[in-house]
Order: sequence, then structure tokens, then C-alpha cells
Amino acid sequence: MKSYQITEWCHESFKMQAVTGGNYIDATMGNGNDTLFLCRMAGKTGHVTAFDIQQQALEATEKLLEENGVRERASLILDSHTNMGLYQQKETVDGIFFNFGYLPGADHAVATKAETSLAAIRCGMELLKVGGVMSLCIYSGGDTGYEERTALLGFLKTLDPKRWLVLVHEFYNRKNDPPLPVFLVKLS
Ligand code: SAM
Repeated sequence: MKSYQITEWCHESFKMQAVTGGNYIDATMGNGNDTLFLCRMAGKTGHVTAFDIQQQALEATEKLLEENGVRERASLILDSHTNMGLYQQKETVDGIFFNFGYLPGADHAVATKAETSLAAIRCGMELLKVGGVMSLCIYSGGDTGYEERTALLGFLKTLDPKRWLVLVHEFYNRKNDPPLPVFLVKLS
């Protein structure tokens, strides 16, 4: 096995569980790397709806998708992921990506926050189909602190194991609070 970076691990783990050619959401578009991954998963028949609250993220993502010839596979939306439910119906989504934190190269203060991240996860759980997968890349320390990570992990611990498979992966021997890849599968 190669030495995975966290985003690669999230992509590989997501591919293992999620259907291809599906309807996906990228809840934190950023520079578009996860949106591009999801567009490739979507192929010509699927679709990706991607959200960010920063215009800079939309522009970077649009450029990346155009360069890779997949721009038509995604809708890029300047809105908070707490409003995902305004754009997709319940139980119609095959997979959702969250990559928390701030946009690299932009203002670190414009980062995801515990309260809104929790609200968006709850909303995403309703939008997922049975069998759908949610990938959460959770950071701690540095600019974002531990508050978001503590809140998210506390919430995930309470989920009914008959309805949700929750897997927390860990880069166990890496230093300086490495990000935590977490996966939810909707079982029923
Ligand atoms: N997925 C991205 C990529 O592949 O490059 C990286 C995402 S970056 C770590 C986190 C992003 O979340 C930032 O671009 C930030 O603007 C965005 N964000 C913060 N709060 C948000 C919110 N409430 N709704 C949607 N996006 C938000």
C-alpha cells in the first residue's frame, strides 16, 4: 500500500462504497479538487452540485473543471452548505463530500464552523439515499482549533448503528494532529 495523503484516502474509500454515475454533492468546493474527483465519478450520466461561500472558490473550481473537460457535469453554487436542502430532494443523493477548514491561500477566518457544519451534515444525511456515502475530512489544531472536530465526533457517536455505519480512520503515527477521514453509510 502506498503512503496516502488524506484527500487521496478519502477518494479511495469513497470509491469503494459509492456507486459510479450518481448524483453527488461537494459541500465544501474550495479549489475544486474534490469536485473534480466527483465529476469523474459522475461520468457523463451523473451530476455534481458543489457549494462554497467564497466567489474565489467558485472561480478556481470552474477553471479546474474546464481544464479537465468536465465543466458541464457540475453546478457550482455560491451558498452555504446549510442550504443544500434547497437544491436537492430528500433521499436522492448518492454521495456527499465535506472537506472542512479554510480555503488554502485565502482568509483563514472564513473557515467552516462547528454549528453550521453540524447543521449541514444533518441536512446531508436526509438527502442521502439508502446506501449513500458521506465523506468527512475533519481538521483540528492550527487555525480551526478543536471545537469543530469535538462537536462533529460527539454527534457521530450518537447515531443509531442500525441506520448508520460510521467509520473513523486515523493516520495514527503522523505528527501534528493530522486530519481525520470519517465515512458515513446510510444503512436504512
Ligand atoms: N474541497 C476543497 C478542495 O478540493 O480544494 C477544499 C475545501 S477547503 C478545505 C474548505 C472550504 O469550505 C473553503 O473554501 C471555505 O470557503 C468553505 N466553506 C466554509 N464555510 C462554508 C459553508 N458554510 N458552506 C460552504 N462552504 C463553506
